[in-house]
Amino acid sequence: MKNPSVSNSYGFCFDNTYSQLDKKLFTALEPAKVKQPALSLWNDNLARELGLRFGENSKKVKAEIFSGNRLPDDSFPLAQAYAGHQFGHFTMLGDGRAILMGEQITQNNKRFDIQFKGSGQTPYSRRGDGRATLYSMLREYLISEAMHHLGIPTSRSLAVVKTGEEVIRETIQPGAVLTRVMTSLIRVGTFEYVRYLQPQLIEEFTRYVINRHFPDLAESENPALELFEKVMHLQIDLVVNWMRVGFIHGVMNTDNMSIPGETFDYGPCAFINAYHPRKVFSSIDHYGRYAFGNQPSIAQWNLGCLAVTLLPLIDEREEKATETAREKLSRFEKLFSDKYFKMMCNKLGIENPEENDGMLIEELLNWMQQHEADYTNTFLAIENGGSFSQGSDAGIYGQESFTNWYKRWEQRVARNQGGMKQAKEIIQQHNPAFIPRNHLVEEALEAAASNENYQPFHKLLDILSRPYDRTDELSSYQNPPAQGDSGYQTFCGT
Ligand code: AMP
Ligand code: MG
Repeated sequence: MKNPSVSNSYGFCFDNTYSQLDKKLFTALEPAKVKQPALSLWNDNLARELGLRFGENSKKVKAEIFSGNRLPDDSFPLAQAYAGHQFGHFTMLGDGRAILMGEQITQNNKRFDIQFKGSGQTPYSRRGDGRATLYSMLREYLISEAMHHLGIPTSRSLAVVKTGEEVIRETIQPGAVLTRVMTSLIRVGTFEYVRYLQPQLIEEFTRYVINRHFPDLAESENPALELFEKVMHLQIDLVVNWMRVGFIHGVMNTDNMSIPGETFDYGPCAFINAYHPRKVFSSIDHYGRYAFGNQPSIAQWNLGCLAVTLLPLIDEREEKATETAREKLSRFEKLFSDKYFKMMCNKLGIENPEENDGMLIEELLNWMQQHEADYTNTFLAIENGGSFSQGSDAGIYGQESFTNWYKRWEQRVARNQGGMKQAKEIIQQHNPAFIPRNHLVEEALEAAASNENYQPFHKLLDILSRPYDRTDELSSYQNPPAQGDSGYQTFCGT
């Protein structure tokens, strides 16, 4: 690995292992030059974590570098090849509008992929223009950073640079390039590409992934099987976290499922207001495949796709390999439900979960569903002695159907060692007071992208960087929209 103490100008310290893999795994390609780069957003904390150093008056140089107009030292720009199951159908994909610039080595020897999104066409673009709108890149920046501050593994956003060029969608919009940062952009879909289109490389590629992400497994008895198990655990933890905060990813295709277990590809994602397991926001998810409550079973389905790609490495005997992988995958349900149960107990401030707590959880979820209660605020109401004074939901916590449940909950948490006080502490740690509510996100983006007014964006980002803080002063950031979600829709690939 490269020594970060000998970094280049601006602190770039690239060590590009992906570029040394077989050429069939990527296409070397520079980001397209843009007309008039101008910096819209810069994440100073993340830059520091990465070891990047830009001085005071560096807006211009940042704009040049993070638009792709000026390449950082030692970068090796490339578009990665991958495939994937989109809504259940296998397709060849690849970075159609993204360029991996390099792998940054930080001061504490961590490795991060630095990728530009919206950087022009690549051989994998199919019919796409390779571009991204300012609006959607600002959205990804905001929500990915919010996820990070919620304590959920995610890609992060370093910069948004306006290109000074127009992007044609349903309307003409300003274009932008987002710099996203991830442990790596290797996905289930990368394994599918290798296994089905470059099968001769599956062994080398799997070894690379193990060495890069899970080096402890290299010497194990069956590294491929243990890799699979590891990814399964990471995905379970991730989806449990999504369910905790009411996040719908929206397009859990296998190409959008990361091997190191990070949330990424923020196209059609959204947070639920009113709780409903069948909630869908994505305009193209007609059958609710990626609905809120379907996320666990889709994660399992995707893991099945990963398992199939690893079969030849799990055992030379095909039948034995299938049987072994199937057995591992079959553990998903129990592992998931155990972790989900523990998480929900945490949301309710229960210290030592007991079997009967499952009923308490289920009854609350049913109640929320029937009364279209806000998912986030219901837990705040529980914490707050059974009431939540603001917004359209205010009255429902006074109804007998809720107060009856609440009394039983009080009796239950009285059995915590630290009683109610401890319950409230646990609730605070596991329930955000602030989530990126869709209507607030839209307002902030509208002001920024259409009117160049970034004040609402920065205010929202600031609140979302302390999502677990309890304060009465920001109630307007806690209310769901008065008219509910009423037809709110999200879109892919914009
Ligand atoms: P996504 O839905 O963002 O996961 O993208 C699915 C596939 O479409 C990936 O191969 C993307 O690179 C590609 N894609 C999305 N938007 C564009 C675009 N504007 N131009 C070219 N390719 C795109
Ligand atoms: Mg994708």
